[in-house]
Amino acid sequence: MATGSAVASHDPKNDEFNPFLSMQDGFDTAADFLGLEGGVRDVLSMPDRELTVNVPVLMDDGTVRVFTGYRVQHNTLRGPSKGGIRFSPDVNLDEVRALSAWMTWKCSVVNVPFGGGKGGVICDPRTMSNGELERLTRRYTAAILDIIGPDRDVPAPDMNTNDQTMAWIMDTYSMHQRKTTTAVVTGKPLSIGGSRGRREATGRGVMISANEALKMIGKRPEDTRVVVQGSGNVGGLGAMLLHREGYKITSISDMYGYLVNDRGLDMPAVLAHLNANRTLEGYKEAEYATDGKAQLELDCDALVPAATENQITSENADRIKAKLIVEGANGPTTAIASQMLAARGVTIVPDILANAGGVTVSYFEWVQDRMGYFWTEEIVNSRLEQIMVTSFAEVRETAEKYKVDLRTGAYILSIGRVASVYRMRGLFS
Ligand code: GLU
Repeated sequence: MATGSAVASHDPKNDEFNPFLSMQDGFDTAADFLGLEGGVRDVLSMPDRELTVNVPVLMDDGTVRVFTGYRVQHNTLRGPSKGGIRFSPDVNLDEVRALSAWMTWKCSVVNVPFGGGKGGVICDPRTMSNGELERLTRRYTAAILDIIGPDRDVPAPDMNTNDQTMAWIMDTYSMHQRKTTTAVVTGKPLSIGGSRGRREATGRGVMISANEALKMIGKRPEDTRVVVQGSGNVGGLGAMLLHREGYKITSISDMYGYLVNDRGLDMPAVLAHLNANRTLEGYKEAEYATDGKAQLELDCDALVPAATENQITSENADRIKAKLIVEGANGPTTAIASQMLAARGVTIVPDILANAGGVTVSYFEWVQDRMGYFWTEEIVNSRLEQIMVTSFAEVRETAEKYKVDLRTGAYILSIGRVASVYRMRGLFS
């Protein structure tokens, strides 16, 4: 049984799909390679703190509804905990736990001075008005107020949250502090302490990771057909940047269906269509299909899952044709599927490296807020590139040294860094 799995609810039937167990699987493998002693394993694999809140919200029809939300702080050894807040009907505590731990490893892989945290609220934003979303965001922020702050825990956008959500959080926090405190969240609008380049940062990191992976396997962007799952902040902007870099995007999906064009999609036109219609359906220059799962099995050279967890599983791993997977989402490949793909020689650039561009520019935003001095987009992008390229090389070197895949290499590198800080700081008792 995985170390520390007492925290996760065990259900043998669903273990493959429990992201916290998936995270622990990777953690345990790396901990074995590192020879981590028992106590350190327990400290690092379990979240430091978990807060569950039930917040009442006045709905537009005059009724009051109670929403359940979480904020989990996995670790603060390397700095304040850092990580997004998602709004989704599927949010649950094990998911938020896993995502918070992945943030600890992600921040450590790219060596930014943060620990890991994550938040989530169980709600369906598609059925809520702007006013309801604002009231929910403010009340949730008030409920977690005591444990967040620029030096404690710094939230950011995640699934179904955006710069407007961050502006509401920043304002709610600031009203309670009686002073404007921009550095309490990242991913804010530019006019209130946001960073240039933050919106595209995760997609840009995915693009840089894909470039580095191609160099490793000896391929060129022009010869690489890419299937992208998801067309939000990560998938959509990532596909656009990959397209500009010369990759051929042959398929992209949204939550309703996907487009296919083997000659390559004109990404600016696809995104313009999506912006105007809120759906990919109806775009003329491609076939449209609705069986989302089949999209992952399309013939292509690279697959970028940039939607949500548990998309590549033991059920479909054998039918995946891509030789390269660049994980834009967090946890899109289950632990078992990852092993199945590795056995077939598929290269996976793991989430904690591939999608770390977002938190890297979040770090830049936090620094700029605290300096009160803002950088040009060129500076942001070049510093992001430098960090992503260095981190990719460090993960690759670690993987080669231990003769493991890139995911295990990334875990070994990041967990090793956090463990060495733990030993340095010592145990407060
Ligand atoms: N939600 C993003 C992630 O999963 C960004 C987190 C952040 O910027 O703090 O990496």
